[in-house]
Amino acid sequence: MFLIRSLGILGIAGLLGCAGAAPLRTDAADRQTAAVTSIVPTLHERIHDTARAQPAVVDPGPPPPASRVPSDAVVLFDGRDLSEWRSRDGGPAQWKVEGGHVEVVAGTGAITTIRAFGDCQLHVEWAAPDPPADAGQDRGNSGVFLMGRYEVQVLDSYGSTTYPDGQAAAIYGQYPPLVNASRPPGAWQSFDIVFRRPRFNERGELIAPARVTVIHNGVLVHDAVILTGPTSHRQRPPYGAHPDRLPITLQDHASPVRFRNIWVRDLER
Ligand code: MG
Repeated sequence: MFLIRSLGILGIAGLLGCAGAAPLRTDAADRQTAAVTSIVPTLHERIHDTARAQPAVVDPGPPPPASRVPSDAVVLFDGRDLSEWRSRDGGPAQWKVEGGHVEVVAGTGAITTIRAFGDCQLHVEWAAPDPPADAGQDRGNSGVFLMGRYEVQVLDSYGSTTYPDGQAAAIYGQYPPLVNASRPPGAWQSFDIVFRRPRFNERGELIAPARVTVIHNGVLVHDAVILTGPTSHRQRPPYGAHPDRLPITLQDHASPVRFRNIWVRDLER
């Protein structure tokens, strides 16, 4: 609401600014950019703080059947092949497709969509390795990167703790999930993500930050949170101007995480 209200006020301010002479328009544009940039949150919690409260555990119930695909969705993976994906080096995606799912092959690198997206609704199903290996950040780690920059964490957080801003469904390094709605390793889990990309003006300045809503296994875990910038390990870097449409990336973090039933609705078409 704050964002929408702020943008509304700024929109009016922008219209008023347009009524003046050219230098005033520039001043108004600069003030608008500064004001919008100022709503990028400053997070006071230390990044990756293991001492902060763990999100409450919520039992989401057993996995439902694989979700149905809306008629206007782009199917990115239907269990058969990786024709919509490639390796980050541009070559064929090297992950293993079998039994209606695709599994990370450690060391082959991230895979990324051939198509590019901005604002979107993304559905991803994933399962952590069973039996689990290792602990913390090495336990079923992967990730869904919107625009290749903004990560919704994939991790086995069922009965396993790590720093809350890096557990399953965290916006990595920025926001722990509201609750821990994880299913056990081996069970299919789902992310339903509504992503609004950041906006930049023609000078490459941020005029609206990215926002993300995430539903994990049917449970709301992020409610239109405002991203501070790209997600990263041990740092919260500022926004850098980038294209309006970029590929979606799945992370190779050396864990044999499985994915299935991936589809996306383009909200800018
Ligand atoms: Mg990850």
